Amino acid sequence: MIAENLQKINSEIAAAATRAGRNSEEIKLIAVSKRQPASAILEAYAAGHTLFGENYVQELEEKRAILPAAIKFHFIGHLQSNKCKAAVLCSHMIETVDRAKLGDTINKQLRLENRRLDVLIQVNIGHDPNKSGTSAQETADLLDRLTPLSQLRVCGLMTMPPYSNNPENSRPFFHNLRMLAEDLHAQGFFPEMKKPELSMGMSNDFAVAIEEGATIIRVGTAIFGERQ
Ligand SMILES: *Cc1c(COP(=O)(O)O)cnc(C)c1O
Repeated sequence: MIAENLQKINSEIAAAATRAGRNSEEIKLIAVSKRQPASAILEAYAAGHTLFGENYVQELEEKRAILPAAIKFHFIGHLQSNKCKAAVLCSHMIETVDRAKLGDTINKQLRLENRRLDVLIQVNIGHDPNKSGTSAQETADLLDRLTPLSQLRVCGLMTMPPYSNNPENSRPFFHNLRMLAEDLHAQGFFPEMKKPELSMGMSNDFAVAIEEGATIIRVGTAIFGERQ
Protein backbone atom coordinates (compact mmCIF):
# COMPACT_ATOMS: atom_id res chain seq x y z
CA MET A 1 0.00 0.00 0.00
CA ILE A 2 2.74 2.48 1.01
CA ALA A 3 4.77 1.58 -2.08
CA GLU A 4 1.73 2.16 -4.32
CA ASN A 5 0.97 5.47 -2.64
CA LEU A 6 4.56 6.62 -3.17
CA GLN A 7 4.38 5.65 -6.80
CA LYS A 8 1.10 7.53 -7.25
CA ILE A 9 2.45 10.67 -5.54
CA ASN A 10 5.66 10.59 -7.53
CA SER A 11 3.65 10.54 -10.75
CA GLU A 12 1.47 13.41 -9.48
CA ILE A 13 4.67 15.33 -8.70
CA ALA A 14 5.90 14.70 -12.24
CA ALA A 15 2.55 15.82 -13.73
CA ALA A 16 2.46 19.03 -11.65
CA ALA A 17 6.07 19.79 -12.58
CA THR A 18 5.27 19.33 -16.27
CA ARG A 19 2.25 21.67 -16.00
CA ALA A 20 4.53 24.29 -14.43
CA GLY A 21 7.34 23.77 -16.97
CA ARG A 22 9.65 22.54 -14.20
CA ASN A 23 12.04 19.63 -13.82
CA SER A 24 10.61 17.21 -11.24
CA GLU A 25 14.16 16.38 -10.10
CA GLU A 26 14.34 19.74 -8.35
CA ILE A 27 11.44 18.71 -6.06
CA LYS A 28 12.15 16.63 -2.94
CA LEU A 29 9.39 14.56 -1.38
CA ILE A 30 9.51 14.39 2.43
CA ALA A 31 7.44 11.45 3.65
CA VAL A 32 6.00 12.77 6.92
CA SER A 33 6.08 9.80 9.29
CA LYS A 34 5.00 11.44 12.56
CA ARG A 35 2.80 9.16 14.66
CA GLN A 36 3.44 6.31 12.24
CA PRO A 37 5.36 3.21 13.35
CA ALA A 38 8.99 2.59 12.34
CA SER A 39 7.70 -0.38 10.34
CA ALA A 40 5.86 2.05 8.01
CA ILE A 41 9.12 3.95 7.43
CA LEU A 42 10.88 0.68 6.64
CA GLU A 43 8.14 -0.19 4.17
CA ALA A 44 8.70 3.11 2.34
CA TYR A 45 12.47 2.60 2.54
CA ALA A 46 12.12 -0.84 0.97
CA ALA A 47 10.29 0.89 -1.89
CA GLY A 48 13.32 3.14 -2.38
CA HIS A 49 12.32 6.21 -0.35
CA THR A 50 14.94 7.70 1.99
CA LEU A 51 13.69 11.18 3.09
CA PHE A 52 11.29 11.43 6.02
CA GLY A 53 9.84 14.17 8.21
CA GLU A 54 9.22 14.08 11.96
CA ASN A 55 7.57 16.62 14.29
CA TYR A 56 8.37 15.39 17.79
CA VAL A 57 11.94 15.17 19.10
CA GLN A 58 11.44 12.14 21.33
CA GLU A 59 9.72 10.18 18.57
CA LEU A 60 12.51 11.16 16.16
CA GLU A 61 15.18 9.97 18.62
CA GLU A 62 13.46 6.62 19.08
CA LYS A 63 13.16 6.05 15.35
CA ARG A 64 16.69 7.31 14.58
CA ALA A 65 18.11 4.78 17.06
CA ILE A 66 16.64 1.77 15.28
CA LEU A 67 16.52 2.76 11.60
CA PRO A 68 19.29 2.45 8.95
CA ALA A 69 21.64 5.45 8.59
CA ALA A 70 20.64 5.83 4.92
CA ILE A 71 17.25 7.06 6.14
CA LYS A 72 17.35 10.84 6.53
CA PHE A 73 15.03 13.00 8.60
CA HIS A 74 13.90 16.58 8.23
CA PHE A 75 12.69 18.04 11.51
CA ILE A 76 9.42 19.85 10.74
CA GLY A 77 7.82 20.39 14.16
CA HIS A 78 7.91 23.26 16.61
CA LEU A 79 11.33 23.11 18.28
CA GLN A 80 12.00 24.09 21.88
CA SER A 81 15.52 25.19 22.76
CA ASN A 82 15.91 22.50 25.43
CA LYS A 83 15.32 19.79 22.79
CA CYS A 84 17.77 21.25 20.27
CA LYS A 85 20.63 18.91 21.01
CA ALA A 86 18.65 15.77 20.20
CA ALA A 87 16.98 17.37 17.18
CA VAL A 88 20.37 18.41 15.77
CA LEU A 89 21.88 14.98 16.36
CA CYS A 90 19.05 13.21 14.54
CA SER A 91 18.30 15.59 11.66
CA HIS A 92 19.55 16.09 8.15
CA MET A 93 17.70 19.43 7.99
CA ILE A 94 15.72 21.52 10.50
CA GLU A 95 12.91 23.30 8.65
CA THR A 96 11.39 25.20 11.55
CA VAL A 97 13.84 27.85 12.73
CA ASP A 98 11.60 30.79 13.64
CA ARG A 99 13.59 32.85 16.15
CA ALA A 100 17.18 34.03 16.56
CA LYS A 101 17.70 32.39 19.96
CA LEU A 102 16.83 29.00 18.49
CA GLY A 103 19.39 29.57 15.72
CA ASP A 104 22.05 30.38 18.34
CA THR A 105 21.29 27.23 20.32
CA ILE A 106 21.41 25.03 17.20
CA ASN A 107 24.66 26.69 16.12
CA LYS A 108 26.33 26.02 19.50
CA GLN A 109 25.36 22.36 19.41
CA LEU A 110 26.69 22.02 15.85
CA ARG A 111 29.98 23.60 16.88
CA LEU A 112 30.39 20.91 19.54
CA GLU A 113 29.81 18.30 16.86
CA ASN A 114 32.05 20.16 14.41
CA ARG A 115 29.54 20.05 11.58
CA ARG A 116 27.19 22.27 9.60
CA LEU A 117 23.47 21.78 9.12
CA ASP A 118 20.97 22.93 6.50
CA VAL A 119 18.08 24.88 7.99
CA LEU A 120 14.98 26.67 6.74
CA ILE A 121 13.13 29.58 8.29
CA GLN A 122 9.50 28.88 9.11
CA VAL A 123 7.31 31.78 7.98
CA ASN A 124 3.74 32.22 9.19
CA ILE A 125 2.71 33.51 5.80
CA GLY A 126 -1.02 33.49 6.60
CA HIS A 127 -0.71 35.29 9.98
CA ASP A 128 -2.41 32.22 11.44
CA PRO A 129 -2.58 32.63 15.26
CA ASN A 130 -2.47 28.82 15.66
CA LYS A 131 0.82 28.42 13.80
CA SER A 132 4.40 29.19 14.69
CA GLY A 133 6.78 30.97 12.35
CA THR A 134 8.17 34.43 11.89
CA SER A 135 6.08 37.01 10.07
CA ALA A 136 6.98 37.85 6.47
CA GLN A 137 7.93 41.37 7.61
CA GLU A 138 10.39 40.06 10.20
CA THR A 139 12.06 37.45 8.01
CA ALA A 140 14.84 39.76 6.78
CA ASP A 141 15.70 40.73 10.39
CA LEU A 142 15.83 37.07 11.40
CA LEU A 143 18.05 36.30 8.40
CA ASP A 144 20.39 39.11 9.50
CA ARG A 145 20.80 37.26 12.80
CA LEU A 146 21.09 33.74 11.37
CA THR A 147 23.31 34.28 8.32
CA PRO A 148 26.50 35.00 10.36
CA LEU A 149 26.14 31.75 12.36
CA SER A 150 29.02 29.67 11.02
CA GLN A 151 27.51 26.21 11.42
CA LEU A 152 24.17 26.97 9.74
CA ARG A 153 23.47 26.99 6.06
CA VAL A 154 20.21 28.88 5.73
CA CYS A 155 18.76 27.36 2.57
CA GLY A 156 15.33 28.95 2.26
CA LEU A 157 11.83 29.21 3.68
CA MET A 158 9.14 26.83 4.90
CA THR A 159 5.46 27.49 5.49
CA MET A 160 2.14 25.91 6.39
CA PRO A 161 -0.83 27.96 5.17
CA PRO A 162 -4.14 27.95 7.08
CA TYR A 163 -5.83 24.58 6.57
CA SER A 164 -8.51 24.41 3.89
CA ASN A 165 -10.27 21.57 2.08
CA ASN A 166 -9.80 23.41 -1.18
CA PRO A 167 -6.15 23.36 -2.32
CA GLU A 168 -6.73 26.47 -4.42
CA ASN A 169 -7.08 28.44 -1.16
CA SER A 170 -3.40 27.68 -0.46
CA ARG A 171 -2.20 29.09 -3.77
CA PRO A 172 -1.88 32.77 -2.77
CA PHE A 173 0.07 31.81 0.36
CA PHE A 174 2.47 29.65 -1.65
CA HIS A 175 2.83 32.43 -4.20
CA ASN A 176 3.61 34.94 -1.43
CA LEU A 177 6.24 32.69 0.12
CA ARG A 178 7.97 32.36 -3.22
CA MET A 179 7.89 36.12 -3.81
CA LEU A 180 9.33 36.68 -0.32
CA ALA A 181 12.16 34.19 -0.92
CA GLU A 182 13.01 35.67 -4.32
CA ASP A 183 12.96 39.19 -2.92
CA LEU A 184 15.28 38.21 -0.05
CA HIS A 185 17.59 36.36 -2.45
CA ALA A 186 17.77 39.47 -4.65
CA GLN A 187 18.77 41.42 -1.52
CA GLY A 188 21.72 39.03 -1.04
CA PHE A 189 20.25 36.63 1.52
CA PHE A 190 20.75 32.86 1.11
CA PRO A 191 24.22 33.63 -0.32
CA GLU A 192 25.13 29.95 -0.61
CA MET A 193 22.08 29.13 -2.69
CA LYS A 194 21.69 29.43 -6.44
CA LYS A 195 17.95 29.29 -5.73
CA PRO A 196 16.45 29.33 -2.22
CA GLU A 197 14.55 26.22 -1.11
CA LEU A 198 10.78 26.52 -0.68
CA SER A 199 9.23 23.88 1.59
CA MET A 200 5.48 24.08 1.06
CA GLY A 201 2.60 21.75 0.23
CA MET A 202 1.14 18.75 2.08
CA SER A 203 -1.14 15.82 1.15
CA ASN A 204 -4.04 17.95 0.01
CA ASP A 205 -2.23 20.80 -1.76
CA PHE A 206 1.23 19.65 -2.87
CA ALA A 207 0.36 19.84 -6.58
CA VAL A 208 -0.59 23.52 -6.22
CA ALA A 209 2.60 24.10 -4.21
CA ILE A 210 4.69 22.62 -7.03
CA GLU A 211 2.93 24.86 -9.56
CA GLU A 212 3.89 27.79 -7.31
CA GLY A 213 7.55 26.77 -7.05
CA ALA A 214 7.92 24.34 -4.11
CA THR A 215 11.27 22.54 -4.01
CA ILE A 216 10.39 20.48 -0.92
CA ILE A 217 6.92 19.05 -0.29
CA ARG A 218 5.89 17.36 2.98
CA VAL A 219 3.35 14.58 2.52
CA GLY A 220 2.09 12.32 5.32
CA THR A 221 -1.46 11.01 5.12
CA ALA A 222 -1.42 10.44 1.35
CA ILE A 223 1.54 8.07 1.80
CA PHE A 224 0.94 6.39 5.16
CA GLY A 225 -2.82 6.79 5.71
CA GLU A 226 -4.36 8.23 8.86
CA ARG A 227 -2.04 8.80 11.81
CA GLN A 228 -2.34 6.90 15.12
C1 LIG B 1 1.86 16.66 9.62
C2 LIG B 1 2.58 17.62 8.78
C3 LIG B 1 2.65 17.48 7.39
C4 LIG B 1 1.95 16.36 6.62
O1 LIG B 1 0.56 16.54 6.63
P1 LIG B 1 -0.41 15.59 5.74
O2 LIG B 1 -1.64 16.38 5.63
O3 LIG B 1 -0.57 14.33 6.54
O4 LIG B 1 0.27 15.36 4.45
C5 LIG B 1 3.40 18.39 6.67
N1 LIG B 1 4.04 19.40 7.27
C6 LIG B 1 3.99 19.59 8.60
C7 LIG B 1 4.73 20.72 9.20
C8 LIG B 1 3.26 18.71 9.39
O5 LIG B 1 3.20 18.93 10.71
